Amino acid sequence: MTSATAVVIGASHAGVQVAVSLRQEGWTEDVILIGDESALPYHRPPLSKAYLSGKSSFEELALRSAEFYAKQRIDLLDSTVTSVDRDGRRLVLATGETLAYNKLAVCTGARPRQLAIPGTGLAGVFYLRTAVDVELIRKAAIAGGRVVIVGGGYIGLETAASLRQLGLDVTVIEAAERVLERVTAPEVSDFFTRMHRREGVDVRTGASVEAIVGDGHVREVVMSDGESLLADLVIVGIGVEPNVELAADAGLYVDDGVVIDDHAQTSDPDIVAAGDCATHEMGRYGRRIRLESVPSAGEQAKVAAATIAGKPKTITALPWFWSHQFDLKLQIAGLNTGYDEVVLNGNPTRDEDFTCYYLRSDELIAADCINRPRDFMFSKQVITQKRSVDRAELAATVTA
Ligand code: FAD
Repeated sequence: MTSATAVVIGASHAGVQVAVSLRQEGWTEDVILIGDESALPYHRPPLSKAYLSGKSSFEELALRSAEFYAKQRIDLLDSTVTSVDRDGRRLVLATGETLAYNKLAVCTGARPRQLAIPGTGLAGVFYLRTAVDVELIRKAAIAGGRVVIVGGGYIGLETAASLRQLGLDVTVIEAAERVLERVTAPEVSDFFTRMHRREGVDVRTGASVEAIVGDGHVREVVMSDGESLLADLVIVGIGVEPNVELAADAGLYVDDGVVIDDHAQTSDPDIVAAGDCATHEMGRYGRRIRLESVPSAGEQAKVAAATIAGKPKTITALPWFWSHQFDLKLQIAGLNTGYDEVVLNGNPTRDEDFTCYYLRSDELIAADCINRPRDFMFSKQVITQKRSVDRAELAATVTA
């Protein structure tokens, strides 16, 4: 062991970026990247999109090649970290071995929230977080088969689109009154419902699932109004929970996520955190937020690596996201929390491209851009620069 080993727990978007950025920041000592998925780290977003619909292979998902890690002297270790001994500065692995660290990055991500109803243990019931999950779903997803998707958020809708494209009979069950309720305006929810229904997806809102029934294998889904839906498979997409137990057990400050400051530092000066497991006070929004997105994981990871390397940077970027469903490319700039007005550019009840701008006290705070890449770029700039815009300007934006 050298005198300054940096160890990263979690080998996905955040963890890989920490390791890569450490080298870019001039860290010359050991870098050990520990992941428990037994695969070369991969892009997660295509899992519910191109990978599920069979349009890309697993090889195409790799974040970096095996040669890249070797060349950068990033040691990939296939293992699970079971505890962090901060006093002794060492990690305990599932094998019982220990590993010393000088600097540690916690990038443990998130896991699917479990559906607490009877029958979720039946064969044919899936969650979708990992490549292995998708491989199992693909084996079970036979054209003409019936799938019930529980949850009308991004993952549920993307999964619905991909499986519909594979020729399955798809039903989406959403407990809220509209899909994407937590993240978009009613106009955007209605648009996605319309597009999914047009493609033959049975979208049911204000509906909840009471039990999954079958004889070893799922056979039907029982709704709370008593209706039963026949199902060959069920996919649950009702959100995620951060993997914070390791950090919490080690005594780090955790509150719905590992709490980090503007430099991605945790309550321990030798430990940083980044990605879906981390929560950060965002000056722009005046509160702590745990983001679940690749761009945020990447930015926090770059800042975390800089902190380890002693060249502190600050987390500042505007959050942004994307989602692909059928031929629809949604790009989201900013967070719309607390919006008090919506300005539409285009007609979501008729068109397949439009932008929904979100304003709070006359300021543009977020935009959902559907098949409108130029509106997305425009919105990112305006929101970042806090430029004032008038409604007429928004309604008249030049579009792609
Ligand atoms: P994760 O990707 O969750 O990775 C954490 C890793 O740490 C995992 O490999 C986990 O197994 C490992 N780990 C955890 N604990 C331990 C331990 N104790 N020891 C060793 N290893 C451990 N975001 C977007 O921006 N756009 C999208 O279109 C989009 N689509 C998505 C589609 C799907 C199906 C999913 C599941 C997510 C999607 N996301 C999308 C979200 C995005 O993938 C996450 O924000 C991103 O993966 C976060 O990266 P992360 O490295 O923080 O965490």
